[in-house]
Amino acid sequence: MTLSLTQLAPNLWVAQSRLFFTSSGIFLSRGQTCLIDPGVFPDEIHAIAGFVAGQDCEPLKLVLTHSHWDHILGPEHFADVPTVAQASYLSEVSGQGGTHTRQQIERWEAKHDIGRTQPFVIPRPAETFEEATTLTVGELTLHLMHAPGHSSDQLVVYQPDSATLWAADMLSDIEIPFISHNLAAYQRTLAMLSALDIQTLVPGHGRAASDSAEIRSRISEDTAYLAELRGRVQQAVLEGRTVQETADLCADMRYRSHEENVGPHRLNLESVYVELGGEADPSDVGWGQLLDETG
Ligand SMILES: [Zn+2]
Repeated sequence: MTLSLTQLAPNLWVAQSRLFFTSSGIFLSRGQTCLIDPGVFPDEIHAIAGFVAGQDCEPLKLVLTHSHWDHILGPEHFADVPTVAQASYLSEVSGQGGTHTRQQIERWEAKHDIGRTQPFVIPRPAETFEEATTLTVGELTLHLMHAPGHSSDQLVVYQPDSATLWAADMLSDIEIPFISHNLAAYQRTLAMLSALDIQTLVPGHGRAASDSAEIRSRISEDTAYLAELRGRVQQAVLEGRTVQETADLCADMRYRSHEENVGPHRLNLESVYVELGGEADPSDVGWGQLLDETG
């Protein structure tokens, strides 16, 4: 298998995995690199390592945008490179969350006949931060910002000189917002991002965008989707509706790639129903029941 790397900005190369169109990034400047979510299949990670070596570069840092299983397979291949994550990563991967993550990876590796000589160990970050931090890579300054909503530990990477935003699992052209953490947090995060100057947008899954109109429309579509979902579910909760009645009331909402996103939309409205005070057990409905599937 070959992995194609595309240069999206003067100092940024991006690869797309054959799993979920997952993006891996390489910020590169003056012989130094910072890797973002390198993955997912072992051959893809090897190709990224080969590219970096071919550029005569020293990998300086490895950033994990969040703790979901499809984003954390890279670090074991870059054992000497310090990993950076948002502080909530540590609680996300401890206890039951960590067990689920390991099980997801075991199942996925078994399905794809990916052998390993030693068991997968969830990477431990060498550095964490709470709200924001910066990394210097050659001449680049990368701003890492906490961006919860999809997961409690999600971060985005912003490079102001090229107005590039690495949006983690947001602002995809194929996915709707997956509200697998918290709607209010997701809305605050999108509001923060909408204030940035963005010329190049890289979503964690899907196609990058460098057209201003497309970038603006992804932000406004996702903002509108969250606001409409909040409004409809809030009304249903006030009226004392059940989860199923609420789902029926949200069935005619419009969103991108409708057929593929019917399932995530259902999980979203169920989770939001619980978040807004609807009576249901969070372990029976929404993303909480599907800790296994929050890729
Ligand atoms: Zn995710």
